[in-house]
Amino acid sequence: STPVERKPDWLKIKLTTGENFKELKNMMRDKTLHTVCEEAKCPNIHECWANRTATFMILGDICTRACRFCAVNSGLPTELDLQEPERVAEASEQMGLKHVVVTSVARDDLADGGSSIFAATIRAIRKRLPMCGVEVLIPDFLGNEESLRTVLAAKPDILNHNIETVERLSDKVRSKAKYSRTLELLARSKKIAPEIPTKASIMLGLGEEWSEILQTMDDLRAVGCNIMTIGQYLQPSVKHLKVKKYYTPEQFAELKIEGMKRGFSHVESGPLVRSSYHAHEQVKSAQQN
Ligand code: SF4
Ligand code: SF4
Repeated sequence: STPVERKPDWLKIKLTTGENFKELKNMMRDKTLHTVCEEAKCPNIHECWANRTATFMILGDICTRACRFCAVNSGLPTELDLQEPERVAEASEQMGLKHVVVTSVARDDLADGGSSIFAATIRAIRKRLPMCGVEVLIPDFLGNEESLRTVLAAKPDILNHNIETVERLSDKVRSKAKYSRTLELLARSKKIAPEIPTKASIMLGLGEEWSEILQTMDDLRAVGCNIMTIGQYLQPSVKHLKVKKYYTPEQFAELKIEGMKRGFSHVESGPLVRSSYHAHEQVKSAQQN
């Protein structure tokens, strides 16, 4: 099919700039920290920050991979900042966050993939903010089980690892990551730490069939995945993959029903849904399950 050019109306968002948001934004400017909320120009930033949820990107802003949907710069990273866990915790405290999502670029150049920094960040946030939910959105650590164990030992509230797309499109869309390795990571997490809810996200609009989306749900449930988020892929620049299809809000609603039928404890599905959207609500629903 030919790529569609115009964005449908439901993707045009209204920006409301509340005081809460401005205050947090100024705070972020003082730190040498990166939030995905700002850098990915996430359309949900006002709502999330008002709800005291934010996503930090640790381990630098240069990725050793180059996925064809992703706006993060690729190259060979040079920095490894051992003070970063403490600074993320400090910023989280100052921002009064109730739910923190910690994610990173893929650091295939590091022996442990950066897993020890993830663990240190979880612990630093816990120390300052014992009531704050901590979710990690981790890379696949090239399938290294020790790295996964390192992260799980720090006991995040949610272990999130994205599947991104359906199996058939994985090689084309993702760089180095594999559909099977994603499922393997989620399965291992359940085995190592069954009490920690797992979560995976998929983007739609890259040319997948409806039946392939449902198959992905079945594959995720087969490895015990608890939470799924489903959002619309948007092309970050002309160099990135084109959008093949815009799904309607009704179709997203239908997918939520399909997901809940399959036994996910929480399915967040909508055009603007991102991996960390409404993350604070997902902790609650996963714990009730
Ligand atoms: Fe930040 Fe995630 Fe919310 Fe977007 S959805 S503003 S990245 S916390
Ligand atoms: Fe972007 Fe993650 Fe792919 Fe790196 S591994 S290019 S950060 S999606």
